Amino acid sequence: MDNPLLHETGLPAFSRIRPAHVEPAIRTVIERSRAQVEEILAAAQPPRWDNLVMPLEAMEHRLARAWAPVGHLNAVHNTAALREAYNACLPILSDFGSELGQHEGLFRAYERVLAEQGPELAPGQRKILEDALRDFRLAGVALPPAERARFRAIMQELSMLGARFEEHLLDATQAWRLEVHDPARLDGLPEDARTRAREAAQSRGLDGWALTLDFPAYHAVMSHATDRELRREFYTAWVTRASECGPTAGRFDNGPVMEEILRLRHEAARILGFEDYAELSLATKMAPSVAEVRTFLEDLARRSRKAALAEMEAIRQFAGQPLEAWDIAFWSERLREHAYEVSDEELRPYFPADRVMQGLFETAGELFDIRIVPGGKVDTWHDDVEFFRIENADGSVLGHLYTDLYAREQKRGGAWMDECVGRARLAGIEALPVAFLVCNFMPPTGTRPGLLSHDDVVTLFHEFGHCLHHLLTRVDWPSAAGINGVAWDAVELPSQFLENFAWHPTVIERLSGHFESGAPLPREMLERLIASRNFQSAMQMLRQVEFALFDIRLHGRAPVDAAGVVAELEAVRREIAVVPYPGFNRFAHGFSHIFGGGYAAGYYSYKWAEVLSADAFSLFEERGVMDPEAGRRFRECILEVGGSVDALEAFIAFRGRPPEPEPLLRLSGIGTDTLSAA
Ligand SMILES: [Zn+2]
Repeated sequence: MDNPLLHETGLPAFSRIRPAHVEPAIRTVIERSRAQVEEILAAAQPPRWDNLVMPLEAMEHRLARAWAPVGHLNAVHNTAALREAYNACLPILSDFGSELGQHEGLFRAYERVLAEQGPELAPGQRKILEDALRDFRLAGVALPPAERARFRAIMQELSMLGARFEEHLLDATQAWRLEVHDPARLDGLPEDARTRAREAAQSRGLDGWALTLDFPAYHAVMSHATDRELRREFYTAWVTRASECGPTAGRFDNGPVMEEILRLRHEAARILGFEDYAELSLATKMAPSVAEVRTFLEDLARRSRKAALAEMEAIRQFAGQPLEAWDIAFWSERLREHAYEVSDEELRPYFPADRVMQGLFETAGELFDIRIVPGGKVDTWHDDVEFFRIENADGSVLGHLYTDLYAREQKRGGAWMDECVGRARLAGIEALPVAFLVCNFMPPTGTRPGLLSHDDVVTLFHEFGHCLHHLLTRVDWPSAAGINGVAWDAVELPSQFLENFAWHPTVIERLSGHFESGAPLPREMLERLIASRNFQSAMQMLRQVEFALFDIRLHGRAPVDAAGVVAELEAVRREIAVVPYPGFNRFAHGFSHIFGGGYAAGYYSYKWAEVLSADAFSLFEERGVMDPEAGRRFRECILEVGGSVDALEAFIAFRGRPPEPEPLLRLSGIGTDTLSAA
């Protein structure tokens, strides 16, 4: 059987890929790779860059290439058969991944290459070796046998505990609902929230409405329900989920789970020779030390405090009454409507998709001295898909891009960039990068084109920033090309950086034009839109800093019990929060990012990347938003080097100095007169 997933050149033949191709192809590639690893190791005597690292990089490139279309189709054209084939491959891939990560022979061979050949290699090559060795060590490969066994046991236990944390949270969320029979209680709720509540009641055979505790329902109630008691009940249920308090007290308590997670993380960190888990987490990140992260966050909190207090006071004055925790979102929303009323529906007609894409491509083209042009007819997975070629000004090809912009059935929600093919120039392989840009915008109808909200436009710029990182790379080694090998807390720099352009009047003018009349976005709407960007930005800043500071402090100390977790959070809140928190608030028990997901001692990276991207953008504020020299530098210093240069060094090369927080504060309107708009 000719298996299109096993073709090693050209673009994937999407329309010919069948679910039946998936598992055989992946098994074939993995088996081949597994044999290759041993062959390469045996032949690499002594191990050198060319006989060890290059062939392994080529092997990884082939595997990524076979898998990319599968992962992609599973996300954009999900059928039951494909999902089954996809899921069948996940354990095969993850087993092989941990086999490689735990391979002591490989670890020793990489060590030798670095020790014996290091001085003569390029800095990018050395970084690849150093990163690989670091990851081997963090996987426990360098440990003595007994400690290594204990370390692995801890890791397995931790992944189970993370899953249990999530299960508790989900169960607690689903265990609660509020039945409403008096329609007056739903006063203020948007129509779709009422409809969902009605449907939820009907599906349970109930009269009236059933309000569930999922996020859209919670958000709708907190922002819009005029019934204060309803908001209080919802708030109480939400902030006590999976804890020893509130309406489901003790039934799904994450307290003991958190204790165990913190204890085991600490033990794992100590086995690897780190002081605590925060130090371990930062070993793979751009931020230099735990102390520096804490200072970074405390500094942002201090500088935002005055503006946040003023924002809070503005809500109080607008509400004209003392406010509890369950009143803040409601009155903020009323204030926002009052001060900045500019709805998505008003804006959409000015952002037809074609016009926005053209404006985006022109903007990126001018900034980075590239051209983005139709790439010709290629095999795709849907009629909505378009294909583009990215060229240098001299016409030489840099890479290709698929776009798939509209929501449809069988397509995962959200927006993302993914790699189709990574750039590689290795023995026997010459590949230019190919990216997927996927969104879920409101599709065109028979009478009008796809129309974007301004949020959509910002999302598009964000994902396109990731695309440029992937497409403009000059690195020939897959593990450091594009976004690969970029420190985790720096990977959002290009994407958040590009978002800023979607807020700039000069760029917005290029992107907008009424889909019927072609008229530009009216000045007055543009101004309201831009003003709305910074509504309550200082309070939002403090909220994010509160979570991040709690996270880094909690993981930067000896493990505490559940009461200690709550105490740590309360201490952070006393220091920086400007909104009231009731004593029963158990936010930590539902903080999935750090207990269920991968953000432990890493939550700060949201703010970190924002500081980097705002500071990078500030060069364009200084020189002019379309300044070609600043664009050239961003391309050369950040986009082209991918993961081949340390993230801080790359930033300094671009900006001429280390990152500073002022541009973010300024861009967020913090420090200016934030009360005037109210
Ligand atoms: Zn992103």
